[in-house]
Amino acid sequence: MKRPRLRQIKPLLTPIDTRTVKPFNTRSYKARLQADPSLKFYSSAPWQQFRATVIAERGRRCEACGTTPNTVYLDHVEEQRDGGAPLDRSNVQVLCGSCHQKKSIRARMTRFAMD
Ligand SMILES: [Zn+2]
Repeated sequence: MKRPRLRQIKPLLTPIDTRTVKPFNTRSYKARLQADPSLKFYSSAPWQQFRATVIAERGRRCEACGTTPNTVYLDHVEEQRDGGAPLDRSNVQVLCGSCHQKKSIRARMTRFAMD
């Protein structure tokens, strides 16, 4: 007796391994540095020192929403690229990640609207 033959159909979509595929929007540090030279400032010793001192003095509490996250950002109230002083205590605030991101987006939108 002849047995029916089974044939495997080639899948239409190729599965991807998300563990190895890079997010498409990732730019290298070099590329980001080229787009924004002020990035170099944030790895400089004067800024690192200033940042550590101010956070130690004020505590790790977000000055906008009051949360105490593990990671805090020392944010420039007026960003350097908008003319804000880089190492002036009156121009910085401690922010949580969420507030820092919201503030950065707002600053970027304002900047683009003015350009
Ligand atoms: Zn916050």
